[in-house]
Amino acid sequence: MVGVRVKKQQKTIPIQQQREALAALHRLRKAYSEDISYEVFKARESLRDETLQALSLFTDMVYGERAFGQSFLLCDGCHMARALNSLPCDERGFYLFLCATCYQQYQQQQARVQAEPREPETAPPVEGLQQEGTS
Ligand SMILES: [Zn+2]
Repeated sequence: MVGVRVKKQQKTIPIQQQREALAALHRLRKAYSEDISYEVFKARESLRDETLQALSLFTDMVYGERAFGQSFLLCDGCHMARALNSLPCDERGFYLFLCATCYQQYQQQQARVQAEPREPETAPPVEGLQQEGTS
């Protein structure tokens, strides 16, 4: 990899400012991915791949080499830490990209949702169908 030559008179950008700038780019990529149609999503695969590679590179530059179990991308929750690898999917079937702190909050939130009493059914249950959610 070719290093970036930095002029000596250039001031060093504080790490917090670097992380916030990277978080903004990460949020932009996520918003873009969520806002486009499926057709555009599929048609722009190479652009998405390039963007992910660029974000991965900048993430390494700002956060250093990733440790075992860490993702190459940032957390979708706080955008200020690396996501963990190998997290389960959410209730919609999308992979979770969360850091340890945000994943812990997510699990607590899920436990609260499951503990809440369910809304009464507006329509009578159809005979023969299981009305309980998946476990
Ligand atoms: Zn997080």
